[in-house]
Amino acid sequence: MLPGERPGTRSFALSTQRTIMNDHRRLGRELGIFDTDPLIGSGLPCWLPAGAAVRKAIEDYVYELERRNGYQHVNSPVLGKRELYERSGHWAHYADDMFPPMNVGGEEFVLRPSLCPHHALIYRSRGRSRRELPLRLAELGGMYRSELSGVLGGLTRVRAIQLNDGHIFCAPEQAAAEVSASLDLIEAAHAQLGIRAARYRLSLRGDGGKFVDDPAMWARSEAVLREVLKERGRDYDEERGEGAFYGPKIDIQITDPAGRESTLSTVQVDYFQPGRFDLSYAGGERPVMVHRSVVGGIERLVAHLIEAHGGAFPAWLAPVQAVVLPLSDTELPAAESVLRRCLAAGLRAELAPAGRGSLGARIRAHRLVPYQLVVGPREAAGGGVAVRRRDGSQAGDVPVEQLAAGSRPLY
Ligand SMILES: [Zn+2]
Repeated sequence: MLPGERPGTRSFALSTQRTIMNDHRRLGRELGIFDTDPLIGSGLPCWLPAGAAVRKAIEDYVYELERRNGYQHVNSPVLGKRELYERSGHWAHYADDMFPPMNVGGEEFVLRPSLCPHHALIYRSRGRSRRELPLRLAELGGMYRSELSGVLGGLTRVRAIQLNDGHIFCAPEQAAAEVSASLDLIEAAHAQLGIRAARYRLSLRGDGGKFVDDPAMWARSEAVLREVLKERGRDYDEERGEGAFYGPKIDIQITDPAGRESTLSTVQVDYFQPGRFDLSYAGGERPVMVHRSVVGGIERLVAHLIEAHGGAFPAWLAPVQAVVLPLSDTELPAAESVLRRCLAAGLRAELAPAGRGSLGARIRAHRLVPYQLVVGPREAAGGGVAVRRRDGSQAGDVPVEQLAAGSRPLY
């Protein structure tokens, strides 16, 4: 509901209608993005072909964005020994959100609740010199949260999360610049994805045993985040009790069409885990860990994108970027040749032959596809296409290679 609206007014009815229309669960099913099956379990969605295509486009984009900004990518297993999480502090502060341990031959393993401990051990896999810092490690990896069935829904609350994660190991005097650079990446990615942040939140420690009890450490890490927010001239709200157990966070909040808020992107400063894992550089100096996620968990991101775009994704993200529409069966061979050229040029494309209905009906069925390539007798004779955009405007005979070049993300 918009500010000043009351239930029962016409605008309330319209906004409620929009909320239902854009619900990612309804649209996600209609678009073939994801599905859940009680036999697999709630909170464990499967990505259908259209969803897997969107996910791959996002993964490729984020990977390339990180690569261009000095990150090295790693891969690590989705489980680890219970001792790993005792060492990291998760066991003492975060056990409520973790799946119980599995006993294998007398050893206990848990599905990981975060990627940080694995990355800390990758840092520690050999000695590090001062000039290696900042060392930026990134991974798009699985993590698990033991949510109860009652709170699970669609892609927004899941038990298996594919997280765009990254950890920057740096000298203390580099931390503020790395936090700021992480916010640059987040803002660039949001612009490319068509996401509007609702607000920035500085998430601080709260009372109780969920947070590491070391006031001096918290004061130090909070100072870094405040300095960066001030320098960037960013408005933000402060909220106690929303920090990570090991340190404060800058959270970038988004809202769904019903106005419910959640965190998408985050940057955190951590002086705790480097000590727990005895990380060092130059023979004895202690690095700082900056934890950051540019686009958060892929599940929540895609849920938000479905709702924000109403299913009409930007061309680079669309599950199907081009549909080839022969006017009649006579143009089918020419249309098949156009399809092959689209696929070879890198477009996600498909063919909707005349047997599926009138041209108008086929255009309506593909109304969310950015480019509709009509092949009539003239185009078939000339080897071209008549490009119609999904807003109904005509682009004329554009080579498919040019469409493909225009359907890539910008960095
Ligand atoms: Zn982390």
